[in-house]
Amino acid sequence: MKVSPHVRAVQVPDDNPMHPQFTNIYLVGDGQSLAIDSGEAIERYRWMLRGYLAATERTEIAIAAITHHHSDHSGNLKWAREVFGAEVAIPGNARPLLKGRLPSRGVARLADGQVLDMGGGARAQVLVTPGHSVDSVCYYLEDDGVLFTGDTLLGSTTTTVNDLGAYRRTLARLLQLPNLKVICPGHGPLVNDPRERLQSYIDHRNMRERQILGALAGAGALTSWEIMLKLYPDIDRRLRFAADGNVRSHLKQLEEEGRIKAHPGTPRHPSAAKQRREVEHAKVRERIISQARKLEAEQRRAGLRAQENPPAGQWKEPPRFELT
Ligand SMILES: [Zn+2]
Repeated sequence: MKVSPHVRAVQVPDDNPMHPQFTNIYLVGDGQSLAIDSGEAIERYRWMLRGYLAATERTEIAIAAITHHHSDHSGNLKWAREVFGAEVAIPGNARPLLKGRLPSRGVARLADGQVLDMGGGARAQVLVTPGHSVDSVCYYLEDDGVLFTGDTLLGSTTTTVNDLGAYRRTLARLLQLPNLKVICPGHGPLVNDPRERLQSYIDHRNMRERQILGALAGAGALTSWEIMLKLYPDIDRRLRFAADGNVRSHLKQLEEEGRIKAHPGTPRHPSAAKQRREVEHAKVRERIISQARKLEAEQRRAGLRAQENPPAGQWKEPPRFELT
């Protein structure tokens, strides 16, 4: 799908409750392209990307960049290096977070303000925008007015936030971008009213903060989970941990600002007996899994043998044939 003169979107259907609709991979530039995010390390993403490149473009990926380290954005970096010989470009502080997902060569680290010039007027500027994760970056094509936000701003839902203070500064910065026309999010549809959406995110965070302060008013000391249940009584159970994380990030910021006080919790230390049991269980699980693998391999070999040599064991007395 064409987004602007220099940008195409490859939208891959997704069934994760955190990512309704689809996950997006973007291609920037003609000729050799810049890929922004490359999806999870599963066939579907590679297939879509390769299919798209083969069917509608005569380009390959020259640079595979990511918006942050989360595995649904960075799963195919090694693959992009192997298949296209792409240079891999990552946020400056992402390397330790990307263990096992980086190729051994050809990895460049991006800094704030750096420009990836893909030729023909396609110039993507790197903006360091922490908040959703410590290493989140956005890419901005000012001439096209296209901003790539990864999970910093999503197409149809609000995002999870790791550091709320940083996140609010990020939103304020993005709101200042000149010529902003469209936001290309990591998940969900394009955002065609970017300023309104950024402002609504800012308003949303302010509203959540008021709700949290409201939940605490006259309620004594509550846990983040109790507050989350008050704020989101009907939330999908699978999303509760994410919602609790959002509440906690607000609580952390409120505490830093001295607007609430925290009573330290007591971490759970499992008893020695329980730890021993867990080790034992893990061993048993591993044994079962390895047995299952062996059986599976045997079955596969037996299947192959059977199709090469049809079984003879079905006859007690096989049919006989003679001349008429
Ligand atoms: Zn993410």
